[in-house]
Amino acid sequence: MAAVPPTSCGVPMDAFEDLMKKMKGMTADQQAQWIAENKKACICPTCPTYNGCAKKNEELLFCATGKSFMCISAEKGCMCPTCPVTKAAGLKYKNFCTRGAEKAQRYEHTIWGTKIP
Ligand code: SF4
Ligand code: SF4
Repeated sequence: MAAVPPTSCGVPMDAFEDLMKKMKGMTADQQAQWIAENKKACICPTCPTYNGCAKKNEELLFCATGKSFMCISAEKGCMCPTCPVTKAAGLKYKNFCTRGAEKAQRYEHTIWGTKIP
């Protein structure tokens, strides 16, 4: 098994933290390209929570871009755990359209120790 690269403070870095580090080093164009590519892999449109408003406004990739902007408020299940982006990006959370991006949920959990059921 490959060694997990350490952070500057010596704590092992997981796949998501590694991705965030790589994205910080990207240009704005490269970041936009990453988002466009991963939007193609997003399976939100197959989810019962996804709705016509989100489709019309081309809302996707909530794990990176954050909560749905005015379209989704009711949770009816979440397909994120089966999405290829979850595996590739090392995501730990789900329901990103209503609860916020992976980064935000990790931060909230770290600060408050909260766990939304
Ligand atoms: S993890 Fe969820 S929000 Fe992120 S790309 Fe996959 S289905 Fe979309
Ligand atoms: S983020 Fe999860 S709950 Fe929201 S639409 Fe995508 S798959 Fe469904």
